[in-house]
Amino acid sequence: MTKLIVTAALTGSRISRDASPFIPITPEELVQSAVECWNAGAAAVHIHVRDPGTGLGTQDVEIFRRVVEPLRERTDLILCLTTSGIPGRNLPTEERLEPLSLGPELASFDAGSINLGGAVFANPPEFLEAAALRMKTLGVKPELEIFDSGMIVTCLRMREQGKLEDPLYFQFVLGTPWGAPTTPRSLLYLQEQIPENAVWSAIGIGKDHLPIAMMAMVMGGHIRVGLEDNLYFSKGVLARSNAQFVERIVRIANAYGRDIASPREARDILKVRDPLTQ
Ligand code: ZN
Repeated sequence: MTKLIVTAALTGSRISRDASPFIPITPEELVQSAVECWNAGAAAVHIHVRDPGTGLGTQDVEIFRRVVEPLRERTDLILCLTTSGIPGRNLPTEERLEPLSLGPELASFDAGSINLGGAVFANPPEFLEAAALRMKTLGVKPELEIFDSGMIVTCLRMREQGKLEDPLYFQFVLGTPWGAPTTPRSLLYLQEQIPENAVWSAIGIGKDHLPIAMMAMVMGGHIRVGLEDNLYFSKGVLARSNAQFVERIVRIANAYGRDIASPREARDILKVRDPLTQ
């Protein structure tokens, strides 16, 4: 079975210190948390940054730079920068795409609009067209975030049109209110819809983060964990760090007999460029 890529999603765009005192917020905290995850076996980190005034997500490229540059110096992590902005607040397209100018290997590509709790997370066709074109131009690989099955259809159509290139990399996001549910059949159904040569990873949002990770482990998918997706290490117990989640996946993978992909090996699996050799 292919080696396992573990991605750590460090912070997201909305979680406050009130929800968890352990959530990294400042660039320095994000760098520290990412380095810990790298040491624990993560090959990739998914990065949002926060506005120092509001504490909410921002697409300010200068704040992203304060995370990206130290991580490039100190680690060989694959960097996946968000283009989501603040889901539900729906920032302008140009603002959402700003972090791409830092040349990350990966960037999130939310492959359609969906209700997220009480708001609409708007990813209309014109956003998808602009994001795909910009990523292609800059050599950034889209991480196709799939909240429900129709989003796969969207990606396959864009692939046919030459706007998305093989091998596609899907990130199945299960358990958002009100996206795809966190059941084995749900994950199986999504996985069956993608091309054979595609690479995929899965996230269980909230309490089902571990069951979804375990399903991905045995199905040959890759796994994303982290405080963006889930604050609790176990029922009623807050996770104290992102690395704690990575350590647990690595521990289970070792016991199960699935090898962990290094960042270099993950670059090869994902077919992203290697900034270290360029
Ligand atoms: Zn995110």
